[in-house]
Amino acid sequence: SIVVRNVNKNFGDFAALTDVSVAIPTGGLTALLGPSGGGKSTLLRIIAGLEHPDSGSIEIGGTDATNVPAQRRGVGFVFQHYAAFKHMSVAKNVAFGLEIRKRPKDEIAARVRDMLDLVHLSQFADRLPSQLSGGQRQRMALARALAIEPKVLLLDEPFGALDAKVRKELRDWLRRLHDEVHVTTVFVTHDQEEALEVADTIVVINNGRVEQIGSPDDLYDRPANAFVLEFLGPIT
Ligand code: ATP
Ligand code: MG
Repeated sequence: SIVVRNVNKNFGDFAALTDVSVAIPTGGLTALLGPSGGGKSTLLRIIAGLEHPDSGSIEIGGTDATNVPAQRRGVGFVFQHYAAFKHMSVAKNVAFGLEIRKRPKDEIAARVRDMLDLVHLSQFADRLPSQLSGGQRQRMALARALAIEPKVLLLDEPFGALDAKVRKELRDWLRRLHDEVHVTTVFVTHDQEEALEVADTIVVINNGRVEQIGSPDDLYDRPANAFVLEFLGPIT
C-alpha cells in the first residue's frame, strides 16, 4: 500500500496541503477527486517524489520512501499534457525508460511488444507520436509508464485534454487494463462521475485537506460532510 502520514506542504505562506493522511490499498484503483486548486496534483507529486513535503512521511510497499528520489520509488507516471519524444517512434518512446535503465536489448524488445499489445497499439509501433490520435497518444504514455514494471502507477488527469467521447472510452479502458495488470494505480480527476465509475477507492481533497476516503458507495450513501455531498452532486 501507499501510506501518506500527516503531510504538510506550503508554497511560501500558502498551505497547499494540511495534515494529509491517506492509506491507498495495494492493487487498487484510487481516485484523488476534488475541485481545482484543492491540492490533488501536489499530493500526487509528493507520492511520486517530484515534490518534498515540509513535514510528514510517505511509505510505499511497507518501506519509508520520504527521502527516496523519484527514480528509485518504483513509480510510473503520466501527466495531463504528456510530452512524448516527437522524433522517436512509438516503440522507442515505450522503450525509453528501459534503455536508460540499461536493460538487455532482447528483454527491451519483448517488453515493448507486450506493452504495445496491452494497449492495442501494436500496429502503430513504427509511427511517430504526431501520427497518433489524442487517445492513442495517452495509451502510448500508459504503455511507457507501465514498461518499467512500476509498483505504482500515478496518473494526473491523464484524459483531461480529450473530448468527452474519447475520455469515456479511455476511462473504460483504464478499468479493463487495471483488471488485467493489477498495478496499484492512483489517478487525479476533478470529474466526480469519472471517479465514481472508475475507482474502487476515492479520496476527496479540498482546500489542501482530505474531506473523505471511501468506496464510491460509501461516499454516495454516507457523505462525510456538506462539501462531499455537494461536490458529488447528482450524476449527470
Ligand atoms: P487542478 O485541478 O486545477 O489541477 P489541483 O487540485 O491539482 O488543481 P494543485 O496543483 O495541487 O491543485 O495546487 C494546489 C494549490 O497549490 C493551488 O492553489 C496552487 O496554486 C498551489 N501551488 C501548486 N504548485 C505551486 C507552486 N509550485 N508554487 C506555488 N503555488 C503552488
Ligand atoms: Mg492538478
